[in-house]
Amino acid sequence: MSDPSVRVAVYPGSFDPITRGHEDLVYRSLRLTDRLIVAVAHTATQKKSALFSVEDRVELIRSVFADEPRIECTSFRGLLVDFCRQKGADLVVRGLRAVSDFEYEFQMAQMNHELSPGLETVFLTPDVNYSFLSASLVREVARLGGDVSAFVSPRVLARMQEVLGR
Ligand code: ADP
Repeated sequence: MSDPSVRVAVYPGSFDPITRGHEDLVYRSLRLTDRLIVAVAHTATQKKSALFSVEDRVELIRSVFADEPRIECTSFRGLLVDFCRQKGADLVVRGLRAVSDFEYEFQMAQMNHELSPGLETVFLTPDVNYSFLSASLVREVARLGGDVSAFVSPRVLARMQEVLGR
């Protein structure tokens, strides 16, 4: 049973892999909520360009936030609004980097609000140093042999090097 006095927020995404930009958003979110669930979506992630399995992403996120008991991580299938309902969450956190993020995010937030009127989406902007950072760019640069050590935590970097055979 969920405790109504404890605010729960969900931060959904593909997190392939979790970057410093995602981490920045997670820590900012903790100012808005008691518990944060980082939720790795199964649907958006079955692309050929995926680097990690959903299970590996969850494990990496758990290891990155191992010292923060207010953060948990799990994967989900199906509609985000159903997952939020099941977890007792009334807040969805998403990131806005540039204007290019806005249209898709705006549509999703409106749709989720239609589907579940009690659910609010909040948008957070990252530290300016991470405003250009996306997981897809990190994957691409790493695949081409570039140094991504400034963009992911050391544990994530080590696993990327393993997976890429470096
Ligand atoms: P990607 O990182 O490839 O854009 P995700 O699905 O993992 O995709 O992103 C999940 C959420 O995190 C989205 O709302 C996205 O806008 C946000 N996000 C991702 N990277 C950043 C960043 N560097 N700064 C702020 N928000 C971000």
